[in-house]
Amino acid sequence: MVIRTAKFVASYPSVQKCPKSDLPEYAFIGRSNVGKSSLINMLTCTKALAKVSQTPGKTQLINYYLINDSWHLVDLPGYGYAKVSKGDREKFSDIVLNYILKRENLHLLFVLIDSRLEPQDIDIQFINWLGVNQVPFALIFTKTDKVSSMVLEQNIELHKKVLHETWEELPPIFTTSCVTRTGREDVLNYIDSVFREAKITPCQV
Ligand code: GDP
Repeated sequence: MVIRTAKFVASYPSVQKCPKSDLPEYAFIGRSNVGKSSLINMLTCTKALAKVSQTPGKTQLINYYLINDSWHLVDLPGYGYAKVSKGDREKFSDIVLNYILKRENLHLLFVLIDSRLEPQDIDIQFINWLGVNQVPFALIFTKTDKVSSMVLEQNIELHKKVLHETWEELPPIFTTSCVTRTGREDVLNYIDSVFREAKITPCQV
């Protein structure tokens, strides 16, 4: 997929405030500091469309970007940052859970995982919650330039092993780096393929 245009639309405090829209939505989520803003900037070829945060976890807003005038990229608040108030930190915020459960035009959620880390409880809990609620999602292992290919492979395998304890089938897995721009085409092409499929078979989340 070629990104011709990428524009910030607005930020919303809840799914109820998100605008009515027929455009498909592809959302991104992960633990604070996982590299979500950097990935969004890389995907959209912009330097600062999404703010690369120095104070992770502070903003609890749903950020909308219009891509190619045909779909929305949705930047969801990060989870699991210890320095925000307890209420915000409580597992996954209502903002996130309600958006995922209630937004009918959400086609796919990308769950970002820091490739340097072994499986973290909070990520696994979140993924398992997606499974219980039958939310279509894919995994993206970020910051792959920061690990050797051996450690990357090991960490991905460990995640697969943990997920296999609950899941028979694993979701699509991507690896990205904003430094080397690895994975950009793969993620965009996957969005394109889900988009095309949804046009043939309307997607019900
Ligand atoms: P967010 O809180 O999930 O939006 O994470 P950010 O995009 O703000 O990134 C957190 C930190 O990780 C920043 O210092 C980024 O420069 C750094 N970072 C993000 N992605 C990458 C990557 O692919 N490679 C490297 N080396 N650093 C990254």
